[in-house]
Amino acid sequence: MPGFELFGDIEREQVNDVLESGVLMRYGFDGMRNGHWKAKELENEIQNIFQVNHAQLVSSGTAAISVALASAGVGAGDEVIMPTFTFVASFEAVMMLGAIPVLVEIDDTLALNPESVLQAITDKTKAVMVVQMCGGMGEMDVLKDICIEHNLILIEDACQAIGATYKNSALGSIGDLGCFSFDFVKTITCGEGGAVITNNKDYYLHADHYSDHGHDHIGNDRGAECHPFLGYNFRISELHAAVGLAQIKRLPEIINIQKKNYTVIREALSKVPEITFRRTPEGGEENYSFLSFFLPDIESSLKVSQALKACGIDGCFQYYNNNWHYLRNWDHLKDFKSLYPISKEVKSGLKYLKSKSYPKSDYYIGRNISCLIKLSWTEEEVIKRASKMVEIIKSSL
Ligand SMILES: *Cc1c(COP(=O)(O)O)cnc(C)c1O
Repeated sequence: MPGFELFGDIEREQVNDVLESGVLMRYGFDGMRNGHWKAKELENEIQNIFQVNHAQLVSSGTAAISVALASAGVGAGDEVIMPTFTFVASFEAVMMLGAIPVLVEIDDTLALNPESVLQAITDKTKAVMVVQMCGGMGEMDVLKDICIEHNLILIEDACQAIGATYKNSALGSIGDLGCFSFDFVKTITCGEGGAVITNNKDYYLHADHYSDHGHDHIGNDRGAECHPFLGYNFRISELHAAVGLAQIKRLPEIINIQKKNYTVIREALSKVPEITFRRTPEGGEENYSFLSFFLPDIESSLKVSQALKACGIDGCFQYYNNNWHYLRNWDHLKDFKSLYPISKEVKSGLKYLKSKSYPKSDYYIGRNISCLIKLSWTEEEVIKRASKMVEIIKSSL
């Protein structure tokens, strides 16, 4: 997954363009910037590569989710259906708007279980957020149909799935709005950064204004611009955008290397009869940033993950007891540990979290191991790693 493994001359060159003029901000200062508009350029690249009409860069993936939700009018008291397996960021992003995250089960795609989404819909539901975990994806056609039928907004948290596709469409471009993260460990990085993509012009204009204090960005006198509605500052800087501009040109190269390394390891693990793989919906192609597989039961999965770690095979995640990606260890959220008061509406809307059990999610996450695919491995290292993994797994079962 990590674009940070490839940082070199093209990134430095882009950053130097910005350093030479000293215009570190994405808006204004037209005369001083030597014609460099890195954020604008990166937005254009994103539109071309992911085939969407609009892209709005922001300061992080978390910000992208909040901005996307706000742009579609999701706010106080609205329920957002999302999966138990995610990154805590997607939960936080919903909370920030005073909306209520409604966690539902996942399935063997490691994404939303459509049946559980249907069961969770109430008259307060405003949006469904599918989180495309570990480079894969949910059942997009099914989820899309559910949202159309129930008049819900479909948001894609595609922060971990940059470059993956479903029926030839880029993940992120399938829902009403899609979100990317360019933090330091994502497929491509800006250092910190994120993007909202959409084909809906109104949502785009909302995202553009909302992420910059409500500025309407009309004319070229920032101080004289109007503010049609409340906004905040989720801007990306020119320096960050410059890094991203270099990185996005490497995306095909990054996906190719990941695919090559992933395939070697997958083929080796396929020979272990106890292993099954994360399901990719028909018509989907993951971005190969992780290889995700299942063992027969939670005991063997925990045992294998410990053995891999002990033998120096790093980057293999068993999420059942993970603090950041699975709700089991989110006591701070279940107990409303917040620096400031949380609204009564959200508190009562989230009460279910303390007692609700998620047997299906436990079944999949308990048995899953997701191994990070690195770009820097040599062919020899991947082959060695694959056979070592097989050996360790076999002897742990
Ligand atoms: C990384 C990530 C985010 C948040 O992105 P940041 O840029 O780190 O704020 C959100 N959702 C998922 C699934 C992620 O992996």
